[in-house]
Amino acid sequence: MSKSNGEEPRPENRMERLQKGFRKRTVLAKERVQNIKKEDVKNFFLRNFFVVFTIIAVIVGVILGFTLRPYKMSYREIKYFSFPGELLMRMLQMLVLPLIVSSLVTGMAALDSKASGKMGIRAVVYYMTTTVIAVIIGIIIVVIVHPGKGTKENMHREGKIEQVTAADAFLDLIRNMFPPNMVEACFKQFKTNYEKKTFKVTLPPNETSTMASIINNVTEAVQALTMTREEVIPVPGSVNGVNALGLVVFSMCFGLVIGNMKEQGRALKEFFDSLNEAIMRLVAVIMWYAPLGILFLIAGKIVEMEDMGVVGGQLGMYTITVIIGLLIHAIIVLPTIYFAVTRKNPWVFIGGILQALITALGTSSSSATLPITFKCLEENNGVDKRVTRFVLPVGATINMDGTALYEALAAIFIAQVNNLDLNFGQIITISITATAASIGAAGIPQAGLVTMVIVLTSVGLPTEDITLIIAVDWFLDRLRTTTNVLGDSLGAGIVAHLSRHELKSSDPEMGNSVVEENEMKKPYQLISQENENEKPLDSETKM
Ligand code: ASP
Repeated sequence: MSKSNGEEPRPENRMERLQKGFRKRTVLAKERVQNIKKEDVKNFFLRNFFVVFTIIAVIVGVILGFTLRPYKMSYREIKYFSFPGELLMRMLQMLVLPLIVSSLVTGMAALDSKASGKMGIRAVVYYMTTTVIAVIIGIIIVVIVHPGKGTKENMHREGKIEQVTAADAFLDLIRNMFPPNMVEACFKQFKTNYEKKTFKVTLPPNETSTMASIINNVTEAVQALTMTREEVIPVPGSVNGVNALGLVVFSMCFGLVIGNMKEQGRALKEFFDSLNEAIMRLVAVIMWYAPLGILFLIAGKIVEMEDMGVVGGQLGMYTITVIIGLLIHAIIVLPTIYFAVTRKNPWVFIGGILQALITALGTSSSSATLPITFKCLEENNGVDKRVTRFVLPVGATINMDGTALYEALAAIFIAQVNNLDLNFGQIITISITATAASIGAAGIPQAGLVTMVIVLTSVGLPTEDITLIIAVDWFLDRLRTTTNVLGDSLGAGIVAHLSRHELKSSDPEMGNSVVEENEMKKPYQLISQENENEKPLDSETKM
C-alpha cells in the first residue's frame, strides 16, 4: 500500500531490516574495496603468504618426520637434524625476557591506575572463568568416556617424577612472585628441594635413666643410632629458567609507578617504549625464519618419538579424551565466550592469530610463542597495544586453560587406572588444585607434567603413576599449549572490547608510538574494523 492511499506506512519487518542492513554493508564493502591501496594488497598477500607458508611447513614437517622414521636415526643424528628447530626456540626465548619487561612496564605506564585496575579485573575474571570452565570440561569428559578401565599393570611406563608437596609448591609460587634479586630472576626460579637431615634426640631425664640401663650393654655405635632421628626437610633450591612470575609482578609495579611519576618518569617510559618497539622489530625478522624452524621442530619430534605401539588401550583412550576435551574448549567454549561478549565473529579473530597457534603447536611453549602472539594480535587483529602489552604477558604466565583441563583430566584418569572411586569432595579438591597448578606452571614444554604432582598429592593418588602418561605427553603438550595461546589471545580481544571506552578517553599517544600508527593500518585490521563497524546484534555487553 502506498502513502497516497492515506494509510500509515507499514512498519519494517525483521526481514526488510536485515535486507536493508545487508545492502548498506554491501555498499560499505564496495567503498572499502575501492579505497584499498596497492600497498594494502601487497601487505595482505605478504601476511597470508606467511600463514600459508607456515601451514605448508607443518605438513612438510609431518611428512618428512614419518618418511625418516624407518631409518632409525641415532640420538645424536636426531639432535643434529632438529638443530634448525632448536635455533628457532632459542631465538624466541631470547626475546621473551626483554619483551615481558618492556611491554608490561609501558603497558602499565600508559594507563592511569583506574583504567589499569579495571582492565586487570576484567582480565582476571576472564582468566578465572575460562580456567574453571576448562577444568569442568576435563572432569565431565573423563568421567563420561572413562578411559582408565582395567588395570595399570600392563601399561607402559616412562621417565621419572620429582616429588613435591602441595604446600611447598604453593609457597614456591608466592616466593617466585617476589624475587630477592632481579638479575637472578632473569635466569633462575626458586624451588624447594628436599634433604635428609639427622637430628640428635635428647631424651627426658627419666627416660634417659631407663634408656641408660637398657643400652648399658650395647656398643657405642648402636647407642649413637638410637639417639638420632632422620627427617626429610625442605631446603631452598633453584631451577634454571626465567622467573616469569617475578618479572611480571616487578614490571607491573614498576610501570605503575613510572606512570604516576608523570613528567619525572617520562625518560624511563620512553626508554621502555623504544625497547619494546625494537624487540617487536626483531620479532618481525624472526618470523621469516619461523616456518623453517617449525618444520624441523615437528619433523625432529616425529623422528624421535617412541614406537606408537605403546599408545594402545587405556593410554590411547586417554589421548583421545584429552583431545576431545581440548577441542570442546578451544572450538566451542572460547569462541562462544568471545562472541557473547564482543558480538564479533570469533573466526575472523582466530584467523588473525593462526601463525601464533601454529608456533605454539611447534614449540610447545606459550612463553616462546609470546613474541608471535603479540605481532599477530597487534598487526593482524588491530588489538590496542595498551591492552596487549598489559594482558598478554600476564596471560602467557598465569592463564593456561589447556593445562588446567589436562591436569584435572589426567588426575582422574590415574584414579581410574588405580580403580579408585573419587568422592565429590576429592573432585572439588582436584578442580581447585588443577587451577592452581595451571597458574603455577611455567609456559615451557611439559611444565604441566611437573605441576601434576601437586594435583595428585592433594587427593592422595600415587604420584609415580605420572610415568604412565609421559609417553604421550609431548603430543598432548602441543595441543594444550595451542589452547593456552588461544585463550590468552581471545582474552586480549575481549578485554580490549570491554575497555574500549576508557581507552578512547585516555591519551592514545601513550600506547602507540608514532611509527606504529601508520604501520598499523594493515589489511587484517581492515577486516577487524569491518567487524567493529558491524552493529551489535544485542545491546553491548559490559562488565
Ligand atoms: N607447555 C605448556 C605451555 O607452555 C605448559 C604445559 O606444560 O601445560 O603453555
